[in-house]
Amino acid sequence: MKGSLLYEGKAKRVYHTDDPEQLILSYKDDATAFNGKKKESFPGKGRLNNLITSKVFQSLHQQHIKTHFIQALNETEQLVYKTDIVPLEVVVRNKAAGSITRRLGITEQTLFQPPILELFYKNDELNDPLINDVHAYHLTGIREQDLLFIKEQALLINEHLSHIFQKAGLELIDFKLEFGFLPDGRLVLSDEISPDTCRLWDLETGTKMDKDVFREEIGSLTDTYERILQRLEESVCAK
Ligand code: C5P
Repeated sequence: MKGSLLYEGKAKRVYHTDDPEQLILSYKDDATAFNGKKKESFPGKGRLNNLITSKVFQSLHQQHIKTHFIQALNETEQLVYKTDIVPLEVVVRNKAAGSITRRLGITEQTLFQPPILELFYKNDELNDPLINDVHAYHLTGIREQDLLFIKEQALLINEHLSHIFQKAGLELIDFKLEFGFLPDGRLVLSDEISPDTCRLWDLETGTKMDKDVFREEIGSLTDTYERILQRLEESVCAK
Protein backbone atom coordinates (compact mmCIF):
# COMPACT_ATOMS: atom_id res chain seq x y z
CA MET A 1 0.00 0.00 0.00
CA LYS A 2 1.23 3.49 -0.88
CA GLY A 3 2.30 5.43 2.19
CA SER A 4 3.51 8.97 2.76
CA LEU A 5 5.67 10.97 0.37
CA LEU A 6 9.37 10.44 1.13
CA TYR A 7 10.92 12.67 -1.52
CA GLU A 8 10.01 14.62 -4.64
CA GLY A 9 12.58 14.92 -7.41
CA LYS A 10 12.46 16.61 -10.81
CA ALA A 11 11.00 13.59 -12.61
CA LYS A 12 9.62 11.33 -9.87
CA ARG A 13 7.93 11.22 -6.48
CA VAL A 14 9.03 8.56 -4.01
CA TYR A 15 6.56 7.07 -1.53
CA HIS A 16 6.92 4.80 1.48
CA THR A 17 5.13 1.44 1.46
CA ASP A 18 4.06 -0.97 4.25
CA ASP A 19 7.43 -2.66 3.77
CA PRO A 20 10.33 -0.55 5.08
CA GLU A 21 12.61 -2.09 2.43
CA GLN A 22 10.38 -1.16 -0.53
CA LEU A 23 9.34 2.14 -2.12
CA ILE A 24 6.95 3.27 -4.83
CA LEU A 25 8.32 5.50 -7.60
CA SER A 26 5.68 7.66 -9.23
CA TYR A 27 6.79 9.10 -12.58
CA LYS A 28 5.81 12.72 -13.18
CA ASP A 29 4.86 14.36 -16.47
CA ASP A 30 7.43 17.13 -15.92
CA ALA A 31 10.47 17.46 -18.16
CA THR A 32 13.47 19.49 -17.04
CA ALA A 33 16.77 20.24 -18.73
CA PHE A 34 19.91 22.28 -18.05
CA ASN A 35 19.71 21.55 -14.29
CA GLY A 36 16.05 22.59 -14.06
CA LYS A 37 16.43 25.89 -15.93
CA LYS A 38 14.16 24.67 -18.74
CA LYS A 39 10.94 23.08 -17.50
CA GLU A 40 7.66 21.95 -19.06
CA SER A 41 4.94 19.41 -18.38
CA PHE A 42 3.96 16.81 -21.00
CA PRO A 43 0.79 14.85 -20.22
CA GLY A 44 1.56 11.14 -20.63
CA LYS A 45 5.34 11.42 -20.19
CA GLY A 46 5.24 9.82 -16.71
CA ARG A 47 3.42 6.78 -18.09
CA LEU A 48 5.90 6.41 -20.94
CA ASN A 49 9.02 6.61 -18.77
CA ASN A 50 7.53 4.23 -16.20
CA LEU A 51 6.70 1.65 -18.87
CA ILE A 52 9.99 2.10 -20.79
CA THR A 53 12.10 1.85 -17.61
CA SER A 54 10.13 -1.23 -16.49
CA LYS A 55 10.74 -2.95 -19.82
CA VAL A 56 14.45 -2.09 -19.84
CA PHE A 57 15.00 -3.22 -16.23
CA GLN A 58 13.18 -6.50 -16.93
CA SER A 59 15.48 -7.07 -19.91
CA LEU A 60 18.51 -6.34 -17.73
CA HIS A 61 17.25 -8.86 -15.13
CA GLN A 62 17.19 -11.48 -17.87
CA GLN A 63 20.88 -10.70 -18.37
CA HIS A 64 21.46 -11.19 -14.61
CA ILE A 65 22.06 -7.51 -13.86
CA LYS A 66 20.81 -6.74 -10.33
CA THR A 67 18.63 -3.65 -10.01
CA HIS A 68 16.30 -2.03 -7.49
CA PHE A 69 13.29 -2.74 -9.75
CA ILE A 70 10.58 -5.14 -8.51
CA GLN A 71 7.55 -4.53 -10.75
CA ALA A 72 5.40 -1.94 -12.47
CA LEU A 73 2.28 -1.37 -10.36
CA ASN A 74 0.23 0.61 -12.84
CA GLU A 75 0.74 3.02 -15.75
CA THR A 76 2.81 5.57 -13.82
CA GLU A 77 4.14 3.77 -10.74
CA GLN A 78 6.64 1.05 -9.98
CA LEU A 79 7.66 -0.85 -6.87
CA VAL A 80 11.39 -0.84 -6.11
CA TYR A 81 13.73 -1.88 -3.33
CA LYS A 82 14.85 1.01 -1.16
CA THR A 83 18.49 1.86 -1.77
CA ASP A 84 20.91 4.30 -0.27
CA ILE A 85 21.82 6.15 -3.48
CA VAL A 86 25.48 6.91 -4.15
CA PRO A 87 25.50 10.60 -5.23
CA LEU A 88 27.23 9.85 -8.52
CA GLU A 89 25.94 10.13 -12.07
CA VAL A 90 27.74 7.48 -14.08
CA VAL A 91 27.71 8.40 -17.77
CA VAL A 92 28.78 6.00 -20.52
CA ARG A 93 29.36 7.40 -24.02
CA ASN A 94 29.55 5.38 -27.24
CA LYS A 95 29.50 8.43 -29.49
CA ALA A 96 30.05 12.12 -28.80
CA ALA A 97 26.99 14.23 -28.05
CA GLY A 98 25.89 16.74 -25.43
CA SER A 99 28.24 18.06 -22.77
CA ILE A 100 31.40 16.28 -23.96
CA THR A 101 31.22 18.06 -27.33
CA ARG A 102 31.14 21.44 -25.57
CA ARG A 103 33.58 20.58 -22.76
CA LEU A 104 36.29 18.98 -24.89
CA GLY A 105 35.53 20.34 -28.37
CA ILE A 106 34.83 16.89 -29.79
CA THR A 107 32.68 16.77 -32.93
CA GLU A 108 29.22 15.26 -32.44
CA GLN A 109 28.97 11.63 -33.62
CA THR A 110 32.69 10.89 -33.02
CA LEU A 111 32.91 7.18 -32.15
CA PHE A 112 34.41 6.23 -28.77
CA GLN A 113 35.99 2.78 -28.89
CA PRO A 114 36.28 1.76 -26.09
CA PRO A 115 33.33 3.70 -24.66
CA ILE A 116 34.12 6.64 -22.39
CA LEU A 117 32.94 6.46 -18.78
CA GLU A 118 32.57 9.70 -16.85
CA LEU A 119 31.65 10.39 -13.22
CA PHE A 120 29.65 13.43 -12.18
CA TYR A 121 28.98 14.47 -8.60
CA LYS A 122 25.20 14.56 -8.10
CA ASN A 123 24.79 18.01 -6.65
CA ASP A 124 22.38 20.56 -8.15
CA GLU A 125 23.97 23.51 -6.35
CA LEU A 126 27.33 22.69 -7.94
CA ASN A 127 25.71 21.89 -11.31
CA ASP A 128 26.67 18.18 -11.17
CA PRO A 129 30.42 18.68 -11.84
CA LEU A 130 32.63 16.16 -13.64
CA ILE A 131 34.90 14.46 -11.07
CA ASN A 132 37.61 11.81 -10.93
CA ASP A 133 37.81 8.65 -8.83
CA VAL A 134 39.65 10.26 -5.93
CA HIS A 135 37.07 13.06 -5.81
CA ALA A 136 34.40 10.35 -5.69
CA TYR A 137 36.06 8.58 -2.73
CA HIS A 138 36.36 11.89 -0.92
CA LEU A 139 32.90 13.30 -1.72
CA THR A 140 30.77 10.16 -1.44
CA GLY A 141 32.76 7.93 0.93
CA ILE A 142 32.56 5.11 -1.62
CA ARG A 143 35.22 2.40 -1.35
CA GLU A 144 37.62 1.65 -4.17
CA GLN A 145 36.19 -1.83 -4.80
CA ASP A 146 32.64 -0.46 -4.96
CA LEU A 147 33.60 2.18 -7.54
CA LEU A 148 35.35 -0.52 -9.55
CA PHE A 149 32.18 -2.63 -9.41
CA ILE A 150 30.07 0.35 -10.54
CA LYS A 151 32.36 0.94 -13.53
CA GLU A 152 32.37 -2.73 -14.54
CA GLN A 153 28.58 -2.88 -14.22
CA ALA A 154 28.12 0.34 -16.21
CA LEU A 155 30.18 -1.01 -19.12
CA LEU A 156 28.39 -4.36 -19.02
CA ILE A 157 25.03 -2.58 -18.89
CA ASN A 158 26.17 -0.55 -21.90
CA GLU A 159 26.62 -3.77 -23.88
CA HIS A 160 23.19 -5.09 -22.89
CA LEU A 161 21.42 -1.75 -23.44
CA SER A 162 23.09 -1.23 -26.83
CA HIS A 163 21.75 -4.63 -27.86
CA ILE A 164 18.25 -4.04 -26.45
CA PHE A 165 17.96 -0.70 -28.25
CA GLN A 166 19.58 -1.96 -31.45
CA LYS A 167 16.85 -4.58 -31.74
CA ALA A 168 14.40 -1.68 -31.51
CA GLY A 169 16.17 0.14 -34.38
CA LEU A 170 17.93 2.60 -32.09
CA GLU A 171 21.57 3.49 -31.56
CA LEU A 172 22.54 4.05 -27.92
CA ILE A 173 24.74 7.15 -27.99
CA ASP A 174 25.15 7.73 -24.24
CA PHE A 175 23.29 7.32 -20.96
CA LYS A 176 23.40 8.04 -17.24
CA LEU A 177 23.14 5.49 -14.44
CA GLU A 178 22.79 5.71 -10.69
CA PHE A 179 23.63 3.01 -8.18
CA GLY A 180 22.54 2.43 -4.60
CA PHE A 181 23.17 0.12 -1.64
CA LEU A 182 20.43 -2.29 -0.58
CA PRO A 183 19.96 -2.73 3.20
CA ASP A 184 22.05 -5.94 2.99
CA GLY A 185 24.97 -3.93 1.56
CA ARG A 186 24.70 -5.10 -2.05
CA LEU A 187 25.26 -2.42 -4.67
CA VAL A 188 22.62 -2.39 -7.43
CA LEU A 189 21.51 -0.30 -10.39
CA SER A 190 18.82 2.19 -9.30
CA ASP A 191 16.85 5.16 -10.64
CA GLU A 192 15.54 4.92 -14.23
CA ILE A 193 16.63 4.12 -17.78
CA SER A 194 14.46 6.03 -20.22
CA PRO A 195 14.74 8.53 -23.08
CA ASP A 196 15.17 11.12 -20.30
CA THR A 197 18.46 9.50 -19.30
CA CYS A 198 19.70 8.06 -22.61
CA ARG A 199 20.52 9.51 -26.01
CA LEU A 200 18.93 7.33 -28.66
CA TRP A 201 19.27 7.95 -32.39
CA ASP A 202 17.26 6.18 -35.07
CA LEU A 203 19.57 3.54 -36.56
CA GLU A 204 18.55 4.31 -40.14
CA THR A 205 18.01 8.07 -40.20
CA GLY A 206 20.06 9.28 -37.22
CA THR A 207 17.01 11.21 -35.95
CA LYS A 208 17.27 12.11 -32.24
CA MET A 209 14.64 10.17 -30.27
CA ASP A 210 15.24 11.23 -26.65
CA LYS A 211 15.14 14.24 -24.34
CA ASP A 212 17.22 16.24 -26.84
CA VAL A 213 13.89 16.64 -28.68
CA PHE A 214 12.87 18.80 -25.69
CA ARG A 215 16.32 20.31 -24.99
CA GLU A 216 16.77 21.41 -28.61
CA GLU A 217 13.04 21.90 -29.38
CA ILE A 218 13.15 19.70 -32.47
CA GLY A 219 9.94 17.69 -32.12
CA SER A 220 7.19 16.28 -29.91
CA LEU A 221 8.54 14.69 -26.74
CA THR A 222 5.55 12.44 -26.05
CA ASP A 223 5.24 11.25 -29.69
CA THR A 224 8.94 10.40 -29.64
CA TYR A 225 8.79 8.52 -26.31
CA GLU A 226 5.63 6.68 -27.47
CA ARG A 227 7.55 5.45 -30.51
CA ILE A 228 10.40 4.24 -28.28
CA LEU A 229 7.95 2.27 -26.12
CA GLN A 230 6.24 0.78 -29.21
CA ARG A 231 9.55 -0.25 -30.74
CA LEU A 232 10.72 -1.85 -27.48
CA GLU A 233 7.44 -3.74 -27.16
CA GLU A 234 7.61 -4.93 -30.77
CA SER A 235 11.26 -5.99 -30.52
CA VAL A 236 10.67 -7.88 -27.26
CA CYS A 237 7.62 -9.63 -28.79
CA ALA A 238 9.59 -10.43 -31.95
CA LYS A 239 12.27 -12.28 -29.97
O1 C5P B 1 24.57 16.26 -20.62
P1 C5P B 1 25.48 15.12 -20.97
O2 C5P B 1 25.84 15.09 -22.41
O3 C5P B 1 26.65 15.00 -20.05
O4 C5P B 1 24.58 13.80 -20.71
C1 C5P B 1 25.06 12.51 -20.97
C2 C5P B 1 23.91 11.51 -20.82
O5 C5P B 1 23.47 11.46 -19.47
C3 C5P B 1 22.67 11.90 -21.64
O6 C5P B 1 22.05 10.71 -22.12
C4 C5P B 1 21.77 12.59 -20.62
O7 C5P B 1 20.40 12.44 -20.95
C5 C5P B 1 22.12 11.84 -19.35
N1 C5P B 1 22.00 12.68 -18.15
C6 C5P B 1 20.97 12.47 -17.25
N2 C5P B 1 20.86 13.27 -16.13
C7 C5P B 1 21.74 14.24 -15.89
C8 C5P B 1 22.80 14.49 -16.79
C9 C5P B 1 22.91 13.68 -17.92
O8 C5P B 1 20.17 11.56 -17.44
N3 C5P B 1 21.62 14.98 -14.79
